[in-house]
Amino acid sequence: MNQSWDETWQRLAACADPRVDPNIFFPPAEAGRRGWDKPAKEICRTCMVIEPCFRMAVREGITEGIWGGLGGWERHRRGGPRPLHRRRPSTT
Ligand code: SF4
Repeated sequence: MNQSWDETWQRLAACADPRVDPNIFFPPAEAGRRGWDKPAKEICRTCMVIEPCFRMAVREGITEGIWGGLGGWERHRRGGPRPLHRRRPSTT
């Protein structure tokens, strides 16, 4: 983990709940499984630190996974780095 992150807000993260499987925030091994990101985005919608999470992902150049309630392409459209993969995952 990058030491430059301000970790204060991360203690308030909805995904820090031990009942949440962190793997749901990243694409499954099986390519093309539509809707994989929906459970993670539902958790993000309840998260009180969604904005600092989004800003951190953009600042750190994170292109994979769900951060700030958005996938890599969605963050790219809001100023984040361009993901390396070509296929655009579902935006819902
Ligand atoms: S917005 Fe989502 S990924 Fe970011 S801290 Fe909150 S629950 Fe975790």
